[in-house]
Amino acid sequence: MAEGRKRVVIIGGGLGGMYAAAKLKHAPVDIVVIDKANHQLYQAMMYQVAVGILSPGQVAPSLRSMLRHQRNARVVLGTVVRIRPDTRDIVLARPDGPEECFEYDTLIFAPGVRTDYFGHDEYARSVATLKTIDDAVWLRSRILSSLEIAELEDDPEQVEKWTTFAIVGAGPTGVEMAGAIAQLTRSVVHRDFRKFDPARTRIVLIDAAPYVLGPFDPHLRDEALKALRDHGIEVMLNTRVTGVTSGAVEVLAEDGATHVIEAKTVLWAAGMRSTAIADDLAAATDARTDRYGRLYVDEHCRLPGHPEIFVIGDAANQVDLPMVAQPAMQEGKHVGKVILAELGMGKAPGPFKYFNKGSMAQIGRGNAVADAFGLVKLHGFPGSVLWAILHAWYVEGFFAKLEVTGRWLYSLVAVNRRERVITVK
Ligand SMILES: Cc1cc2nc3c(=O)[nH]c(=O)nc-3n(C[C@H](O)[C@H](O)[C@H](O)COP(=O)(O)OP(=O)(O)OC[C@H]3O[C@@H](n4cnc5c(N)ncnc54)[C@H](O)[C@@H]3O)c2cc1C
Repeated sequence: MAEGRKRVVIIGGGLGGMYAAAKLKHAPVDIVVIDKANHQLYQAMMYQVAVGILSPGQVAPSLRSMLRHQRNARVVLGTVVRIRPDTRDIVLARPDGPEECFEYDTLIFAPGVRTDYFGHDEYARSVATLKTIDDAVWLRSRILSSLEIAELEDDPEQVEKWTTFAIVGAGPTGVEMAGAIAQLTRSVVHRDFRKFDPARTRIVLIDAAPYVLGPFDPHLRDEALKALRDHGIEVMLNTRVTGVTSGAVEVLAEDGATHVIEAKTVLWAAGMRSTAIADDLAAATDARTDRYGRLYVDEHCRLPGHPEIFVIGDAANQVDLPMVAQPAMQEGKHVGKVILAELGMGKAPGPFKYFNKGSMAQIGRGNAVADAFGLVKLHGFPGSVLWAILHAWYVEGFFAKLEVTGRWLYSLVAVNRRERVITVK
């Protein structure tokens, strides 16, 4: 570290944190990117890992390789456990146990969010989630193992339980997972088992809202619902989860009746809330938070009263923007520009302005709903092509882009997948 240079600590090497780091590539600052994982994660493509289309490494590039050519930045692996705004330092727990302290002049806080069980943290013991690469790998193993166990079972009731997948939450994650499990069981592994028919796998998608894909255009929501039902997915709308155990979900359906869905695999794709470290920062700075625990920030993503702390991405409430990738990336860039201007490198940017590039969700093979820039609304195969182009675009590295595009094309025509490895201990 050079004497007298500004020290920029970035907590979280996700989309927001890494866009900020990249913007500061040529700045005379010393950057430390701290993350509890050694990789960035394209969460939007994780469901493809969970059903064996992509391998983990294809959606989780290493942070070190991403910053290989950025000489002013270093990566530190560890979990930030305390932020001390008064002394302008943070404490992290190293993977091997000891704690270490890092001082900052500027802090960019981008830790993302965690799963919310809406006051029922006990559900965490019984459900699968899709938030980390470990979750995706575990889920892949769970789906494939369930089919193997069904093949071993003689009792039809047990077969039914092992081949029922209940998904709570019909946002993009729930919809994409439902479509992907349908594709896997109905047109990839459908001829591989002898004692039961994987194509009869039951997939139940549950949401309290009256529609799927809440943030999408109503026409695209309807198209998505139709596509899900065409795939044989049971979509239960206006339906609230009232209990989860390992092996069953209890719901209160729109007809007022209580139903129990017996499913050995329950995926919770329903909600997000602030991380523990964000809650700590809010408490340490008396910051105002929204109902998800996100910290309110000013027009330059600064924490009010703390001009040295920027909060970006899912952890921030910047004019109520949704917790999706584009705000995180654009805020990361914006904060980079603000810091450059402070260093006399470029003019100060105006207040942060969000440019909505749209939203999309893939529903099974070659079928997606896509809204690009609010101008182009596509569904079916054209939507899927747009989905593939845009998702490959954001993947890090030229060869990774080619690989991801190739796998998508392969998944359109292939009747097999390579990422089907599970082992029994
Ligand atoms: C399954 C899924 C699918 C999604 N699909 C889409 C989609 O299709 N389109 C879309 O636009 N958005 C999608 N999103 C949302 C999108 O991925 C996020 O909005 C985006 O990643 C937010 O970026 P971020 O930088 O705020 O946080 P993240 O990208 O989540 O990065 C946060 C980083 O902080 C690290 N971290 C957290 N706490 C600590 C700590 N205490 N110490 C050290 N490191 C820490 C984490 O390890 C992580 O690397 C999806 C999200 C999920 C979970």
